[in-house]
Amino acid sequence: RIDLTNLANFQLRGLKSVRPSELKAALGGAGLLPRALWADRFRNIQGDPLSSLVEGELTDTGPVIAALDEALQNTPVLSACYNKFSYVVDGGGPSHIGALPHDVGLRAEKGWEGVRFRLCLAGHATVFCARPEAAPALAIGAARMALGFPAKTDSPWMKFVKQTAYRANGRAIAKLARALLALYGQQENRIRRLVRHIPRAEMLERLEGYLDGPYERLEITEEGKPALAPSIGSLVQRGENLRICGFGVPLGQLDAQSLKAIAGLADKYGQGELRLAPWHVVFIPHVPVQEAEALLSQARSLGFITDESFLHVDISACSGLEGCRGARLATPEHALAVMRAFAGQGKREHFAPLSVHVSGCPKGCAHRAVSDILALEREDASGYYVYEHSAALAPQKQSRFPETVSAEDLPRVVLEVANRQGRQEQS
Ligand code: SF4
Repeated sequence: RIDLTNLANFQLRGLKSVRPSELKAALGGAGLLPRALWADRFRNIQGDPLSSLVEGELTDTGPVIAALDEALQNTPVLSACYNKFSYVVDGGGPSHIGALPHDVGLRAEKGWEGVRFRLCLAGHATVFCARPEAAPALAIGAARMALGFPAKTDSPWMKFVKQTAYRANGRAIAKLARALLALYGQQENRIRRLVRHIPRAEMLERLEGYLDGPYERLEITEEGKPALAPSIGSLVQRGENLRICGFGVPLGQLDAQSLKAIAGLADKYGQGELRLAPWHVVFIPHVPVQEAEALLSQARSLGFITDESFLHVDISACSGLEGCRGARLATPEHALAVMRAFAGQGKREHFAPLSVHVSGCPKGCAHRAVSDILALEREDASGYYVYEHSAALAPQKQSRFPETVSAEDLPRVVLEVANRQGRQEQS
């Protein structure tokens, strides 16, 4: 099984009897491994999948992302980052990718002297800006800065060791402290979490000590955060009569056959290029305008979704019966049935943004946060409890749908609740 994740990458799952060396050689041969292998778990860099293809972008983010990837691999101390520490690079394109949750963001802005990337920390703009070629150094400086801050739950001893480990970069005492930290395992240092208890001014003051390359201080002109604008279907590509075709992968679930089929579509209609979007959409660019509908129609026949309802309803499901001993219901299958029910509804603006989570137990592995609609497996596995505005770990009892909902009935009930929530928001 191959999952398309919401970090826009592929995850191979359920590998049986595979030799790690063979897998590594195959992945390396496909150009999917970094030069510095340790960096593979830490280079969570997201960019706009439409970069360089559409009108309206301030700058192509490809070279900045490649340079950031390289800089990250040249900074081994970043292996102490939490492995979900993430970067986003927004070239000012129509997807507003900078709105995705991140630890470190680089956002392009047009100034008097050309394009500058502004450094953002967990979505908050800072005054630190740099030309595109120096922007990766800003991001690396911010990641290094985060390493020495204590997490909220750290003991006084741990706080002391962390500060010692990263304050004196490279000295023997710092190396010793880092070795001690390594004994404790991976450290929590995500800026998304640190901003909750470290004052921003303290963080910015410390940041300056970590910025190596040339940078400027530019007044923050636009603190507003544009919302993510995901797309799907047939999009106009810059240039002559070309389209970018995007289709949604239900629950991000693929397998080798479907991936081969997608590659076949890219070869047949485009130039063999694929782009992955963090909203579970695959884009095939360079498609002649007269062939776009044929491509999308084939994608639909393969089970992919090309209508906008896919973007308006964010459906997640845990691995369920097949992937977890704790589950007794086929949660992904039931979530797919819900998704099909929404797809049949066409474009329904009033659903947006709607999150639906189907979970096999209160652990809520697929989605820890609150969902608009939560279907939680009943203790006796006879069906689901359906809640509104709840997280699996702490469902709101007063919002529970009155009856137990069977798996067959789940799509109808979820649609009913979604319609009611939509009507309430409109009124
Ligand atoms: S949410 Fe519960 S049932 Fe589902 S995968 Fe996680 S532990 Fe298993």
